[in-house]
Amino acid sequence: MKNKKALVLGCGVIGLTSGIRLLEEGYEVEIVAANIPPDTTSNVATAYWYPFRVSPPEKVLPWAALTYDKYMELVKIPDIGLGIFNFVQIFDHKVPDPFWKPVVSNFIRVGKDELPPGYVDGYIAPIARIETPIYMDYLIARFKESGGKITKLDKEVENIEEITVNHKLIINCSGLGSGKLFNDKEVFPIRGQLVKTTNPGLRDCINEEEGPLAVSYIVPHGTYCILGGTADDNDWNLEVDPKTSEEILRKCRELDPRLNEAEILGERVGLRPGRTEVRLELEHFSNDLLIIHNYGHGGAGFTLSWGCAEEVLRFAESVCE
Ligand SMILES: Cc1cc2nc3c(=O)[nH]c(=O)nc-3n(C[C@H](O)[C@H](O)[C@H](O)COP(=O)(O)OP(=O)(O)OC[C@H]3O[C@@H](n4cnc5c(N)ncnc54)[C@H](O)[C@@H]3O)c2cc1C
Repeated sequence: MKNKKALVLGCGVIGLTSGIRLLEEGYEVEIVAANIPPDTTSNVATAYWYPFRVSPPEKVLPWAALTYDKYMELVKIPDIGLGIFNFVQIFDHKVPDPFWKPVVSNFIRVGKDELPPGYVDGYIAPIARIETPIYMDYLIARFKESGGKITKLDKEVENIEEITVNHKLIINCSGLGSGKLFNDKEVFPIRGQLVKTTNPGLRDCINEEEGPLAVSYIVPHGTYCILGGTADDNDWNLEVDPKTSEEILRKCRELDPRLNEAEILGERVGLRPGRTEVRLELEHFSNDLLIIHNYGHGGAGFTLSWGCAEEVLRFAESVCE
């Protein structure tokens, strides 16, 4: 291709991060999307660096590693919604080291006497926490400051050729929407419900994913906590279920009784863009059209965003002069 010009479909964390990296390498980039922040799944996320419900591990690992390092740099910028906290994962059975251990800077196994009653194994690692509404605003500002343009569409794109009139290179970052748009049967929603509370003094992130309180996690963000959660495959329901919220609170309060003092500030639901595997590849869609697909990040869009954006850039560089 003769010019460095790309149209990104999707304005979640994946589209914005991909767009930023392309702009920074001299591309002319426009984002188009049916929903833009704050009305995206990305804005709903908890969020912390952790490869949850995403595959395959051998590809996820380098993307997660690059993103981990990027957050460790970005955290030095004030007020962009990033911080570092200890991630504490606990188990009611013995577990091997997680596949992502080589990525984190200081991985420590927890002794049995340091664990809550009933738990026999666990580990701690420093990871990034992301206040998604603030961080998404930062991404938008950085994208625009780098010369990018964002257009909100009146409706969802039903056929990709609707938006290709002036573009030969599309970066498809449409998340869950890719299922319908590209008739991709491997895409499915993973419903997640969250409760937001005041923070009664918690500092570490606790995660219990395989034991009696699974799936439970407590994510302290300064003055408030996000409590989760659920991960229900193929559930499209975007309504808050009050019983589920009660259950989330009950389990998280069991994990850390200080939460008995916490006031509820809100509840929310989002659909993670699940897929059997992340799709990150270049497709020669037609004679005139190249599509770089970047979707299906499950519960790990924030965990993989910068690493995947780097790969998008490599694909783009392979076809643009
Ligand atoms: C409850 C919950 C907790 C989570 N916690 C974490 C966490 O702790 N850490 C983490 O890394 N990840 C977490 N995630 C996952 C993370 O939010 C997603 O992986 C990420 O948001 C996916 O980003 P995306 O840009 O692909 O999708 P989205 O944010 O959904 O953006 C998709 C974009 O594509 C547009 N679009 C789609 N289809 C069309 C169409 N046909 N026409 C026009 N536009 C279209 C949409 O309008 C939107 O702009 C969580 C998710 C949920 C729901």
